[in-house]
Amino acid sequence: MSAIVKIEASSDAEKARAALEPPLGFGTTLADLMVRMEHGAERGWRQPIVTATAPLELSPAAKALHYGVEVFEGMKAYGWADGRVALFRPELNARRLNASARRIRMPEIAEETQLAAIEALVGELRAWVPRGRGSALYLRPAIIGTEAALRVSSGSEHLYFVIASPVGPYFSGGFKAIPIMVEESQVRAAVGGVGEAKTGGNYAAGLDGQERAREMGFEQVLWLDAREHRYLEELNGMNVFVVDRGSLLTPPLDGTILPGIVRRSILELAPDLGLTASEHPLAIEDVMRGIESGRVTEILAVGTGAIITPVGSLGYRGRTVTVGDGEPGPVAKLFYDAVAAIQHGESPDPRGWMRVVG
Ligand SMILES: *Cc1c(COP(=O)(O)O)cnc(C)c1O
Repeated sequence: MSAIVKIEASSDAEKARAALEPPLGFGTTLADLMVRMEHGAERGWRQPIVTATAPLELSPAAKALHYGVEVFEGMKAYGWADGRVALFRPELNARRLNASARRIRMPEIAEETQLAAIEALVGELRAWVPRGRGSALYLRPAIIGTEAALRVSSGSEHLYFVIASPVGPYFSGGFKAIPIMVEESQVRAAVGGVGEAKTGGNYAAGLDGQERAREMGFEQVLWLDAREHRYLEELNGMNVFVVDRGSLLTPPLDGTILPGIVRRSILELAPDLGLTASEHPLAIEDVMRGIESGRVTEILAVGTGAIITPVGSLGYRGRTVTVGDGEPGPVAKLFYDAVAAIQHGESPDPRGWMRVVG
């Protein structure tokens, strides 16, 4: 299958060694190879090429720069102790990239082509994959609209690329609970909008809330629904679970919430860990009351970046409540360990989630 990918450059092992010297940041160093594949109206998608990482040449009129004609993915290649490298459920990322692309009228890419390109890239970048819990080679596939024309449309020319970055733990403090601010007035996504697509505009919509949260001493912002400003949705790049009387609850996907792969994996894995996890609307007042009464013992933020991040406190309407004792709780630890062990090849993988790169 990977014969369809052209390999045009090779990686510099010396550079990789230097890049993996600790401490690893998050997404600051790019590996020296990337994938590029061009699309045009006449010929559709061309051949994916593994080539040297370099700046893109774009017309200042490119659609991506004006109308947010962009979709992306975030996934990781994990280095196993036995030297192998494996991807976590990459077919779900490929499928989701296409779902995002469809929503904003960008051209889809066959899942097999995406997977072949990503596997070829990771195969060439073996030396860039860090080892050890919490570390991985982060992969960022994206499609952008490159047509130079100012009419509002997705356009007829696009570029698919995949860049890679060796990363350490997402939060420099390691596995610790973070304070989160519940946003009361702005919204990230509305019913009928593009909230469920991984497209740049959603993140632009969240930046002001994110910064205000930071200015007030919180680490992240938690969005509520656009209609009633009442139901929990998600963070800027992570889904949310509440542990209520020992059960995990997460808001149902209604088109405004990004369908996270870690979210889905937790829903699927919970029974194996002797827990129940289900989708249920979560009203903020009820969650606040639950925290205060001790019914809600933990809140988890989940996503590929940090896998599981415990929430230590929640700020809402000028009041901040501590979740549990403010420290990472047992459910967060249980799931982090279970998911990390599968990702690093340390435990059996009965569902075949890991895809070892040939
Ligand atoms: C990517 C993302 C997530 C998490 O998705 P994963 O597939 O679990 O990494 C959650 N919310 C938003 C808004 C995202 O962009």
